[in-house]
Amino acid sequence: MKKRPSRRRRSKPARPTPPASGFDVLDLSPALRRALADAGYVEPTPIQAQLIPLALEGKDVLGQAQTGTGKTAAFVIPILERLGGRSSSPQPRALILVPTRELAVQVKEEAVRLAKGQTVRIVAVYGGKPIRQQIEKLRRGADILVGTPGRVLDLMARRVLDLSKLEIVVLDEADRMLDIGFRPDIERILKRCPRRRQTLLLSATVPPAIERLARRYMRDPEKVDVSPADLTVETIEQFYFTVEPTRKFELLVKLLEREKPEQAIIFCRTKRGTDRVYQRLRKKMRGVEAIHGDMSQGARDRVMRAFREGKVRYLVATDVVGRGIDVSGISHIINYDIPQFSDDYVHRVGRTGRMGREGVAYTFVAPEEGRELTRIELRINRLLKRDEIQGFEVRRTSATEEAAPQANEPTPPPPPSSALRRPRRRHRRAL
Ligand code: AMP
Repeated sequence: MKKRPSRRRRSKPARPTPPASGFDVLDLSPALRRALADAGYVEPTPIQAQLIPLALEGKDVLGQAQTGTGKTAAFVIPILERLGGRSSSPQPRALILVPTRELAVQVKEEAVRLAKGQTVRIVAVYGGKPIRQQIEKLRRGADILVGTPGRVLDLMARRVLDLSKLEIVVLDEADRMLDIGFRPDIERILKRCPRRRQTLLLSATVPPAIERLARRYMRDPEKVDVSPADLTVETIEQFYFTVEPTRKFELLVKLLEREKPEQAIIFCRTKRGTDRVYQRLRKKMRGVEAIHGDMSQGARDRVMRAFREGKVRYLVATDVVGRGIDVSGISHIINYDIPQFSDDYVHRVGRTGRMGREGVAYTFVAPEEGRELTRIELRINRLLKRDEIQGFEVRRTSATEEAAPQANEPTPPPPPSSALRRPRRRHRRAL
Protein backbone atom coordinates (compact mmCIF):
# COMPACT_ATOMS: atom_id res chain seq x y z
CA MET A 1 0.00 0.00 0.00
CA LYS A 2 1.20 3.45 -0.83
CA LYS A 3 2.28 5.17 2.32
CA ARG A 4 2.06 8.92 2.03
CA PRO A 5 4.39 11.07 4.03
CA SER A 6 2.96 13.02 6.92
CA ARG A 7 3.55 16.49 5.63
CA ARG A 8 4.39 18.99 8.26
CA ARG A 9 2.28 22.07 8.52
CA ARG A 10 4.20 25.31 8.77
CA SER A 11 2.98 28.56 10.20
CA LYS A 12 5.55 30.51 8.13
CA PRO A 13 4.37 31.81 4.77
CA ALA A 14 4.70 29.07 2.17
CA ARG A 15 7.58 29.34 -0.26
CA PRO A 16 6.59 29.75 -3.90
CA THR A 17 5.46 26.53 -5.54
CA PRO A 18 8.36 24.77 -7.22
CA PRO A 19 8.65 25.12 -10.98
CA ALA A 20 7.06 22.46 -13.20
CA SER A 21 9.46 19.62 -13.98
CA GLY A 22 9.64 16.06 -15.23
CA PHE A 23 9.40 14.95 -11.59
CA ASP A 24 5.79 16.21 -11.38
CA VAL A 25 4.37 12.88 -12.52
CA LEU A 26 5.85 11.30 -9.41
CA ASP A 27 3.55 13.29 -7.12
CA LEU A 28 6.25 14.26 -4.65
CA SER A 29 5.86 16.57 -1.65
CA PRO A 30 6.41 20.30 -2.28
CA ALA A 31 9.53 20.31 -0.03
CA LEU A 32 11.13 17.59 -2.09
CA ARG A 33 10.17 19.21 -5.38
CA ARG A 34 11.79 22.43 -4.23
CA ALA A 35 14.93 20.56 -3.14
CA LEU A 36 15.10 18.87 -6.55
CA ALA A 37 14.72 22.21 -8.29
CA ASP A 38 17.46 23.71 -6.07
CA ALA A 39 19.73 20.76 -6.91
CA GLY A 40 19.11 21.49 -10.59
CA TYR A 41 17.40 18.14 -11.23
CA VAL A 42 14.76 18.81 -13.86
CA GLU A 43 14.12 15.41 -15.42
CA PRO A 44 14.28 12.08 -13.61
CA THR A 45 17.02 9.82 -14.92
CA PRO A 46 15.86 6.39 -16.21
CA ILE A 47 16.60 4.61 -12.93
CA GLN A 48 14.74 7.32 -11.02
CA ALA A 49 11.74 7.24 -13.37
CA GLN A 50 11.46 3.47 -12.96
CA LEU A 51 12.47 2.85 -9.37
CA ILE A 52 10.81 5.75 -7.53
CA PRO A 53 7.14 4.90 -8.33
CA LEU A 54 7.63 1.25 -7.28
CA ALA A 55 9.43 2.24 -4.09
CA LEU A 56 6.74 4.81 -3.25
CA GLU A 57 4.20 2.00 -3.44
CA GLY A 58 6.19 0.24 -0.74
CA LYS A 59 7.51 -2.53 -3.01
CA ASP A 60 10.91 -4.15 -2.68
CA VAL A 61 13.02 -3.32 -5.72
CA LEU A 62 16.18 -4.81 -7.18
CA GLY A 63 17.67 -2.10 -9.38
CA GLN A 64 20.50 -2.81 -11.77
CA ALA A 65 22.32 0.47 -12.29
CA GLN A 66 25.86 1.75 -12.15
CA THR A 67 27.01 4.89 -10.39
CA GLY A 68 26.58 7.93 -12.56
CA THR A 69 22.98 7.03 -13.40
CA GLY A 70 21.41 8.99 -10.55
CA LYS A 71 20.81 5.84 -8.51
CA THR A 72 21.46 7.56 -5.17
CA ALA A 73 18.58 9.99 -5.60
CA ALA A 74 16.49 7.05 -6.85
CA PHE A 75 16.51 5.55 -3.35
CA VAL A 76 16.92 8.74 -1.31
CA ILE A 77 13.74 10.31 -2.74
CA PRO A 78 11.41 7.44 -1.66
CA ILE A 79 13.11 7.34 1.74
CA LEU A 80 12.48 11.04 2.31
CA GLU A 81 8.89 10.70 1.17
CA ARG A 82 8.29 7.72 3.39
CA LEU A 83 9.84 9.34 6.46
CA GLY A 84 8.08 12.65 5.92
CA GLY A 85 10.29 14.43 8.44
CA ARG A 86 11.96 13.82 11.76
CA SER A 87 10.54 11.26 14.16
CA SER A 88 10.33 11.37 17.95
CA SER A 89 12.63 8.33 18.31
CA PRO A 90 16.42 8.74 18.12
CA GLN A 91 16.74 5.40 16.32
CA PRO A 92 16.93 5.29 12.53
CA ARG A 93 13.95 4.51 10.32
CA ALA A 94 16.05 4.13 7.20
CA LEU A 95 19.39 2.37 6.79
CA ILE A 96 21.60 2.62 3.70
CA LEU A 97 24.49 0.14 3.60
CA VAL A 98 27.38 1.06 1.31
CA PRO A 99 30.73 -0.64 0.57
CA THR A 100 33.18 2.21 1.20
CA ARG A 101 33.73 5.23 3.39
CA GLU A 102 33.86 7.53 0.39
CA LEU A 103 30.50 6.32 -0.81
CA ALA A 104 29.04 6.76 2.69
CA VAL A 105 30.08 10.42 2.62
CA GLN A 106 28.81 10.88 -0.93
CA VAL A 107 25.42 9.27 -0.26
CA LYS A 108 25.02 11.33 2.90
CA GLU A 109 25.77 14.52 0.96
CA GLU A 110 23.17 13.66 -1.66
CA ALA A 111 20.60 12.88 1.08
CA VAL A 112 21.35 16.20 2.82
CA ARG A 113 20.95 18.03 -0.49
CA LEU A 114 17.57 16.43 -1.18
CA ALA A 115 16.35 16.82 2.41
CA LYS A 116 16.76 20.59 2.18
CA GLY A 117 13.79 22.31 3.78
CA GLN A 118 12.95 19.25 5.90
CA THR A 119 14.06 18.46 9.42
CA VAL A 120 15.44 14.99 8.77
CA ARG A 121 18.52 13.90 10.68
CA ILE A 122 21.04 12.14 8.45
CA VAL A 123 24.12 10.49 9.93
CA ALA A 124 26.98 8.62 8.23
CA VAL A 125 29.02 6.00 10.10
CA TYR A 126 32.10 4.31 8.73
CA GLY A 127 35.43 2.89 9.86
CA GLY A 128 38.66 4.84 9.95
CA LYS A 129 37.15 7.70 11.95
CA PRO A 130 37.00 7.73 15.77
CA ILE A 131 33.84 5.89 16.75
CA ARG A 132 33.16 8.30 19.64
CA GLN A 133 32.00 11.18 17.45
CA GLN A 134 29.73 8.85 15.53
CA ILE A 135 28.27 7.49 18.78
CA GLU A 136 27.59 11.07 19.90
CA LYS A 137 25.80 11.86 16.66
CA LEU A 138 23.74 8.68 16.88
CA ARG A 139 22.73 9.48 20.44
CA ARG A 140 21.44 12.85 19.28
CA GLY A 141 19.23 10.93 16.86
CA ALA A 142 19.31 9.76 13.25
CA ASP A 143 16.36 9.31 10.95
CA ILE A 144 18.49 8.10 8.04
CA LEU A 145 21.68 6.20 8.75
CA VAL A 146 24.26 5.66 6.01
CA GLY A 147 27.02 3.24 6.92
CA THR A 148 29.54 0.62 5.99
CA PRO A 149 28.58 -2.86 7.29
CA GLY A 150 31.56 -3.24 9.65
CA ARG A 151 30.90 0.01 11.47
CA VAL A 152 27.16 -0.60 11.65
CA LEU A 153 27.78 -3.98 13.32
CA ASP A 154 30.27 -2.42 15.69
CA LEU A 155 27.71 0.18 16.78
CA MET A 156 25.09 -2.54 17.20
CA ALA A 157 27.46 -4.56 19.38
CA ARG A 158 28.03 -1.49 21.56
CA ARG A 159 24.26 -1.16 21.89
CA VAL A 160 24.23 2.39 20.59
CA LEU A 161 22.42 1.38 17.46
CA ASP A 162 19.06 -0.35 17.50
CA LEU A 163 17.54 -1.37 14.18
CA SER A 164 14.06 -2.20 15.48
CA LYS A 165 12.51 1.02 14.15
CA LEU A 166 13.72 0.51 10.58
CA GLU A 167 11.11 0.83 7.88
CA ILE A 168 13.36 0.81 4.86
CA VAL A 169 16.77 -0.72 4.15
CA VAL A 170 18.93 -0.03 1.10
CA LEU A 171 21.87 -2.14 -0.07
CA ASP A 172 23.83 0.17 -2.35
CA GLU A 173 26.47 -1.23 -4.73
CA ALA A 174 25.55 -4.66 -3.43
CA ASP A 175 27.85 -6.49 -5.89
CA ARG A 176 30.77 -4.45 -4.63
CA MET A 177 29.89 -5.22 -1.00
CA LEU A 178 29.93 -8.93 -1.80
CA ASP A 179 33.25 -8.57 -3.70
CA ILE A 180 34.83 -7.01 -0.64
CA GLY A 181 33.59 -9.89 1.50
CA PHE A 182 30.81 -8.11 3.36
CA ARG A 183 28.23 -10.84 2.81
CA PRO A 184 28.32 -12.29 6.34
CA ASP A 185 28.14 -8.77 7.82
CA ILE A 186 25.22 -7.81 5.60
CA GLU A 187 23.36 -10.97 6.51
CA ARG A 188 23.94 -10.39 10.22
CA ILE A 189 22.55 -6.88 9.86
CA LEU A 190 19.54 -7.92 7.78
CA LYS A 191 18.66 -10.62 10.31
CA ARG A 192 18.37 -7.91 12.95
CA CYS A 193 16.10 -5.70 10.86
CA PRO A 194 12.33 -5.88 11.34
CA ARG A 195 10.68 -8.40 9.04
CA ARG A 196 8.08 -5.90 7.96
CA ARG A 197 10.30 -3.49 6.14
CA GLN A 198 10.95 -2.37 2.61
CA THR A 199 14.23 -3.39 0.99
CA LEU A 200 15.85 -1.76 -2.03
CA LEU A 201 18.95 -3.31 -3.58
CA LEU A 202 21.12 -1.48 -6.10
CA SER A 203 23.85 -3.25 -8.00
CA ALA A 204 25.81 -2.64 -11.21
CA THR A 205 25.72 -6.36 -11.95
CA VAL A 206 23.42 -9.13 -10.75
CA PRO A 207 25.51 -12.30 -10.43
CA PRO A 208 23.96 -15.41 -8.78
CA ALA A 209 25.19 -14.35 -5.32
CA ILE A 210 23.11 -11.18 -5.55
CA GLU A 211 20.10 -13.15 -6.78
CA ARG A 212 20.45 -15.41 -3.73
CA LEU A 213 20.68 -12.44 -1.38
CA ALA A 214 17.56 -10.94 -2.97
CA ARG A 215 15.64 -14.22 -2.71
CA ARG A 216 16.49 -14.59 0.96
CA TYR A 217 16.02 -11.09 2.22
CA MET A 218 13.57 -9.37 -0.11
CA ARG A 219 9.83 -9.79 -0.54
CA ASP A 220 8.94 -10.54 -4.12
CA PRO A 221 11.24 -7.85 -5.51
CA GLU A 222 10.41 -5.95 -8.69
CA LYS A 223 13.34 -5.79 -11.08
CA VAL A 224 14.46 -2.60 -12.74
CA ASP A 225 17.37 -2.73 -15.16
CA VAL A 226 18.93 0.35 -16.67
CA SER A 227 22.40 -1.09 -17.30
CA PRO A 228 23.47 -0.19 -20.82
CA ALA A 229 23.91 -3.11 -23.19
CA ASP A 230 27.68 -2.79 -23.36
CA LEU A 231 27.96 -1.94 -19.67
CA THR A 232 30.06 1.15 -20.28
CA VAL A 233 28.71 4.56 -20.85
CA GLU A 234 28.30 5.29 -24.54
CA THR A 235 30.07 8.62 -24.42
CA ILE A 236 33.39 7.21 -23.18
CA GLU A 237 36.10 6.70 -25.75
CA GLN A 238 38.32 3.80 -24.78
CA PHE A 239 41.91 3.25 -25.91
CA TYR A 240 44.83 1.08 -24.96
CA PHE A 241 48.59 1.42 -25.24
CA THR A 242 50.94 -1.51 -25.45
CA VAL A 243 53.86 -0.58 -23.25
CA GLU A 244 56.77 -2.26 -21.54
CA PRO A 245 56.17 -2.18 -17.77
CA THR A 246 59.45 -0.31 -17.22
CA ARG A 247 58.31 2.53 -19.47
CA LYS A 248 54.82 3.05 -18.11
CA PHE A 249 55.72 6.07 -16.04
CA GLU A 250 57.34 7.90 -18.94
CA LEU A 251 54.31 7.09 -21.06
CA LEU A 252 52.01 8.44 -18.37
CA VAL A 253 53.83 11.76 -18.30
CA LYS A 254 53.78 12.02 -22.11
CA LEU A 255 50.08 11.13 -22.21
CA LEU A 256 49.15 13.72 -19.59
CA GLU A 257 51.18 16.33 -21.49
CA ARG A 258 49.40 15.43 -24.70
CA GLU A 259 45.89 15.20 -23.27
CA LYS A 260 45.93 18.02 -20.70
CA PRO A 261 43.01 16.49 -18.77
CA GLU A 262 40.65 18.68 -16.81
CA GLN A 263 40.86 16.08 -14.05
CA ALA A 264 42.09 12.51 -14.22
CA ILE A 265 42.18 9.41 -12.05
CA ILE A 266 45.21 7.21 -12.54
CA PHE A 267 44.40 3.71 -11.33
CA CYS A 268 47.09 1.41 -9.97
CA ARG A 269 46.69 -2.14 -8.76
CA THR A 270 48.41 -1.91 -5.36
CA LYS A 271 48.76 0.61 -2.56
CA ARG A 272 52.56 0.59 -2.89
CA GLY A 273 52.32 1.03 -6.63
CA THR A 274 49.95 3.95 -6.09
CA ASP A 275 52.43 5.59 -3.72
CA ARG A 276 55.32 5.07 -6.12
CA VAL A 277 53.50 6.63 -9.07
CA TYR A 278 52.31 9.49 -6.86
CA GLN A 279 55.82 10.23 -5.54
CA ARG A 280 57.26 10.33 -9.05
CA LEU A 281 54.41 12.26 -10.63
CA ARG A 282 54.28 15.01 -8.03
CA LYS A 283 57.87 15.86 -8.95
CA LYS A 284 56.80 16.42 -12.55
CA MET A 285 53.34 17.97 -12.31
CA ARG A 286 51.26 20.17 -10.05
CA GLY A 287 47.97 19.19 -8.46
CA VAL A 288 48.82 15.52 -7.85
CA GLU A 289 47.41 13.56 -4.91
CA ALA A 290 47.01 9.90 -4.02
CA ILE A 291 44.29 7.95 -2.27
CA HIS A 292 44.35 4.37 -1.02
CA GLY A 293 43.16 2.24 1.86
CA ASP A 294 46.29 2.61 3.99
CA MET A 295 45.82 6.34 4.40
CA SER A 296 44.06 7.71 7.49
CA GLN A 297 40.42 8.58 7.02
CA GLY A 298 41.19 12.25 7.66
CA ALA A 299 43.76 12.28 4.87
CA ARG A 300 41.40 10.48 2.50
CA ASP A 301 38.60 12.93 3.22
CA ARG A 302 40.94 15.89 2.62
CA VAL A 303 42.10 14.49 -0.71
CA MET A 304 38.55 13.73 -1.85
CA ARG A 305 37.35 17.20 -0.88
CA ALA A 306 40.21 18.83 -2.77
CA PHE A 307 39.53 16.61 -5.79
CA ARG A 308 35.83 17.46 -5.75
CA GLU A 309 36.63 21.16 -5.49
CA GLY A 310 38.94 20.86 -8.49
CA LYS A 311 42.05 21.72 -6.45
CA VAL A 312 43.54 18.33 -7.30
CA ARG A 313 43.96 17.61 -10.98
CA TYR A 314 45.53 14.15 -10.94
CA LEU A 315 44.39 11.56 -8.44
CA VAL A 316 46.42 8.36 -8.23
CA ALA A 317 44.13 5.69 -6.72
CA THR A 318 43.51 2.04 -6.01
CA ASP A 319 40.25 0.33 -6.98
CA VAL A 320 38.72 0.23 -3.52
CA VAL A 321 38.61 4.00 -3.21
CA GLY A 322 38.28 4.66 -6.91
CA ARG A 323 34.91 3.00 -7.21
CA GLY A 324 31.87 5.12 -6.65
CA ILE A 325 33.74 8.43 -6.87
CA ASP A 326 31.43 10.90 -8.54
CA VAL A 327 33.26 14.06 -9.56
CA SER A 328 31.91 15.80 -12.62
CA GLY A 329 35.25 17.24 -13.77
CA ILE A 330 36.85 13.86 -14.44
CA SER A 331 37.68 13.93 -18.13
CA HIS A 332 40.23 11.10 -18.18
CA ILE A 333 40.68 7.68 -16.64
CA ILE A 334 44.09 6.13 -16.96
CA ASN A 335 44.52 2.48 -16.10
CA TYR A 336 48.22 2.59 -15.29
CA ASP A 337 47.87 -1.07 -14.34
CA ILE A 338 45.33 -3.09 -16.25
CA PRO A 339 42.62 -4.12 -13.78
CA GLN A 340 42.73 -7.69 -12.57
CA PHE A 341 38.97 -8.15 -12.89
CA SER A 342 36.96 -6.93 -15.83
CA ASP A 343 34.24 -5.67 -13.46
CA ASP A 344 36.83 -3.31 -12.03
CA TYR A 345 37.47 -1.99 -15.53
CA VAL A 346 33.78 -1.16 -15.92
CA HIS A 347 33.72 0.60 -12.57
CA ARG A 348 36.97 2.50 -13.14
CA VAL A 349 35.96 3.73 -16.57
CA GLY A 350 32.53 4.69 -15.25
CA ARG A 351 34.19 7.42 -13.16
CA THR A 352 34.27 9.58 -16.29
CA GLY A 353 31.53 10.37 -18.79
CA ARG A 354 29.14 11.07 -15.91
CA MET A 355 25.60 12.09 -16.73
CA GLY A 356 26.17 12.01 -20.47
CA ARG A 357 29.36 14.09 -20.47
CA GLU A 358 32.27 13.09 -22.65
CA GLY A 359 35.12 11.14 -21.19
CA VAL A 360 38.09 9.14 -22.35
CA ALA A 361 39.82 6.12 -20.84
CA TYR A 362 43.32 4.80 -21.55
CA THR A 363 44.58 1.42 -20.46
CA PHE A 364 48.28 0.53 -20.33
CA VAL A 365 48.78 -3.07 -21.40
CA ALA A 366 52.09 -4.86 -21.03
CA PRO A 367 53.03 -7.17 -23.93
CA GLU A 368 52.13 -10.24 -21.90
CA GLU A 369 48.76 -8.87 -20.74
CA GLY A 370 46.85 -9.48 -23.97
CA ARG A 371 44.65 -12.02 -22.25
CA GLU A 372 43.49 -9.48 -19.65
CA LEU A 373 42.69 -7.02 -22.43
CA THR A 374 40.66 -9.66 -24.24
CA ARG A 375 38.68 -10.42 -21.09
CA ILE A 376 37.78 -6.75 -20.72
CA GLU A 377 36.74 -6.50 -24.36
CA LEU A 378 34.54 -9.56 -24.05
CA ARG A 379 32.98 -8.11 -20.94
CA ILE A 380 32.12 -4.75 -22.50
CA ASN A 381 31.43 -6.29 -25.88
CA ARG A 382 33.60 -3.75 -27.63
CA LEU A 383 37.17 -3.51 -28.85
CA LEU A 384 39.44 -0.89 -27.34
CA LYS A 385 41.21 1.24 -29.94
CA ARG A 386 44.96 1.14 -30.07
CA ASP A 387 46.78 4.40 -29.42
CA GLU A 388 50.46 5.20 -29.76
CA ILE A 389 52.85 7.92 -28.72
CA GLN A 390 56.06 8.41 -30.65
CA GLY A 391 59.03 6.78 -29.00
CA PHE A 392 56.90 4.22 -27.15
CA GLU A 393 56.06 1.88 -30.01
CA VAL A 394 56.33 -1.73 -28.95
CA ARG A 395 56.91 -4.49 -31.39
CA ARG A 396 53.47 -5.76 -32.40
CA THR A 397 52.70 -9.37 -31.71
CA SER A 398 50.42 -11.49 -33.79
CA ALA A 399 48.00 -13.81 -32.08
CA THR A 400 50.57 -16.52 -31.83
CA GLU A 401 54.02 -15.12 -32.32
CA GLU A 402 55.90 -11.90 -32.37
CA ALA A 403 56.59 -10.32 -35.72
CA ALA A 404 60.16 -9.51 -36.60
CA PRO A 405 60.95 -5.82 -36.07
CA GLN A 406 60.89 -3.70 -39.18
CA ALA A 407 64.19 -2.25 -40.30
CA ASN A 408 63.12 1.32 -39.52
CA GLU A 409 61.54 0.51 -36.14
CA PRO A 410 63.49 1.18 -32.95
CA THR A 411 64.65 -1.99 -31.22
CA PRO A 412 62.24 -2.62 -28.37
CA PRO A 413 63.63 -3.07 -24.87
CA PRO A 414 63.97 -6.68 -23.73
CA PRO A 415 60.82 -8.21 -22.23
CA PRO A 416 60.69 -8.44 -18.44
CA SER A 417 62.29 -11.54 -17.00
CA SER A 418 58.90 -12.82 -15.78
CA ALA A 419 57.69 -12.88 -19.37
CA LEU A 420 60.74 -14.86 -20.40
CA ARG A 421 60.05 -17.50 -17.81
CA ARG A 422 56.39 -17.86 -18.75
CA PRO A 423 55.39 -20.18 -21.55
CA ARG A 424 54.02 -18.19 -24.45
CA ARG A 425 50.24 -18.17 -24.43
CA ARG A 426 47.86 -17.91 -27.28
CA HIS A 427 46.09 -14.59 -27.14
CA ARG A 428 42.90 -13.83 -28.93
CA ARG A 429 43.97 -10.21 -29.01
CA ALA A 430 47.11 -9.19 -30.88
CA LEU A 431 48.87 -6.32 -29.22
P1 AMP B 1 24.79 8.75 -8.77
O1 AMP B 1 24.54 7.74 -9.84
O2 AMP B 1 23.79 8.69 -7.69
O3 AMP B 1 26.22 8.70 -8.29
O4 AMP B 1 24.56 10.21 -9.44
C1 AMP B 1 25.40 10.74 -10.41
C2 AMP B 1 25.27 12.25 -10.52
O5 AMP B 1 24.04 12.61 -11.10
C3 AMP B 1 25.33 13.02 -9.21
O6 AMP B 1 26.24 14.09 -9.38
C4 AMP B 1 23.94 13.54 -8.99
O7 AMP B 1 23.97 14.76 -8.30
C5 AMP B 1 23.43 13.70 -10.40
N1 AMP B 1 21.98 13.53 -10.57
C6 AMP B 1 21.19 12.61 -9.99
N2 AMP B 1 19.92 12.72 -10.43
C7 AMP B 1 19.89 13.72 -11.33
C8 AMP B 1 18.87 14.31 -12.15
N3 AMP B 1 17.62 13.87 -12.12
N4 AMP B 1 19.22 15.35 -12.96
C9 AMP B 1 20.49 15.79 -12.99
N5 AMP B 1 21.51 15.28 -12.25
C10 AMP B 1 21.21 14.25 -11.44
